[in-house]
Amino acid sequence: MVRIDKEYIQNLLSEAKGADDAQITGILDKAERLAGLSHKEIAALLVSENPTHLARIFAIAGQIKKHIYGNRIVMFAPLYVSDYCVNKCTYCSYNCAHTFGRRKLTLPEVREEVKHLEQMGHKRIALEAGEHDAECPLDYILDCIRTIYDMKFENGAIRRVNVNIAATTVDNYRRLQEAGIGTYILFQETYDKDIYEKVHTAGPKKDFAYHLTAFDRAMEGGIDDVGAGVLFGLADPYFEVMSLMLHNEHLEARFGAGFHTISMPRLCPADGMDMKAFPNLVDDDTFEKIAAIIRLAVPFTGMILSTRENRAMREKLLTVGVSQLSAGSSTEVGGYAKRAMHKEAMPQFRVTDERTAPEIISELLDSGYLPSFCTACYRSGRTGDRFMALAKSGQIKNVCLPNALMTLAEYAMDYGDDAFREKAHKAIDTSIKGIGNEKVQTQTRTNVDKIISGGGRDFYL
Ligand code: SAM
Repeated sequence: MVRIDKEYIQNLLSEAKGADDAQITGILDKAERLAGLSHKEIAALLVSENPTHLARIFAIAGQIKKHIYGNRIVMFAPLYVSDYCVNKCTYCSYNCAHTFGRRKLTLPEVREEVKHLEQMGHKRIALEAGEHDAECPLDYILDCIRTIYDMKFENGAIRRVNVNIAATTVDNYRRLQEAGIGTYILFQETYDKDIYEKVHTAGPKKDFAYHLTAFDRAMEGGIDDVGAGVLFGLADPYFEVMSLMLHNEHLEARFGAGFHTISMPRLCPADGMDMKAFPNLVDDDTFEKIAAIIRLAVPFTGMILSTRENRAMREKLLTVGVSQLSAGSSTEVGGYAKRAMHKEAMPQFRVTDERTAPEIISELLDSGYLPSFCTACYRSGRTGDRFMALAKSGQIKNVCLPNALMTLAEYAMDYGDDAFREKAHKAIDTSIKGIGNEKVQTQTRTNVDKIISGGGRDFYL
């Protein structure tokens, strides 16, 4: 089990304040070589307030982002299936002490939501639910997953279902793995045990050790790709980043692969909670610095940002490390169908980026990014340590860029208007030339042309 020793981490952070220029330069040089950083090295970067070091941290984060992820941004959306919850988490509107009309989707309603997600062009979703064994047992979650994967549309299907549900048993993780989930996502919320126990006032989630060991059980159950996160705003953000890295190091040592992704949720207003009750809110500058340091520390781990953040922050974080964005999100059970009927939303928390999915996707393209709807890695068995080995060898580039371009071509044909198609095709034509392997470049051109002429779809490498 990963050991989160508060005193050890706090000591490292205070000792790191003594790191001299040469030490920090050495750490930054290492990061620049894409070698990743240990938690001890990260401590020195976190506590540094030297503007020259900070400028270099941001510059290297940008370089790493460009080198590994190019200008690709993977798109996804959440799907909330149930808001029943037995936990009392002080920051969450699903807190069981809150009274509101709770519900879970029937399977026909799941289909309805998926139709709306598909109409936005999404191919990858994150399935979300509160914790309630009686109202929302694992069998129900598995039914939802099967229902989603069984749906086929003229334009394809939801091809990857990531799952963000409460910590559970090895057996249940095995069943999720057998259902073909993508990443199992679980936010630790906070690694500070004292604060964890204070904000999780009752319910099974109150058990810090059980929550902290969830990824060990997930991996024992055969899930290769796990996605971590802390809810920034609950505890000291530097302590959280150090703990995240220790957790990652533990999984790498025990299972050969650490986090597949790290999500960057920051506490935001929600019904039944008051932001003033949280003394550790993270300001924008610190949030940006943390994102950049995570990018340096784990260059091959995807970084995810949701619509909790506003457009300006999302654009800023794209330049220092974020590689996946949600778009057009609803954080409410049945929220997509409700939105289509213009009914007032009752979300789990208030999203800030309220642009529609097409607006976000089109604006990404305008800013020089390539929105990608790729779901190929897990469909081709590139998960866990196999994914990391390919990523670290640099070979992944020969699949990521072609897959991004082919899925963008598909999106443009299926969901874009003439103006969008024109700029997407332009971006694809330019980017294709950046595919290093000549054979792959030719293959990608052929596939893109087939997609555009209606001669085929769902190509992936
Ligand atoms: N029930 C699952 C569990 O116990 O881990 C998680 C599903 S919940 C729908 C997804 C995440 O939303 C939580 O892990 C939490 O970090 C986040 N969340 C809850 N309240 C929030 C708030 N007020 N602001 C931002 N994120 C919040």
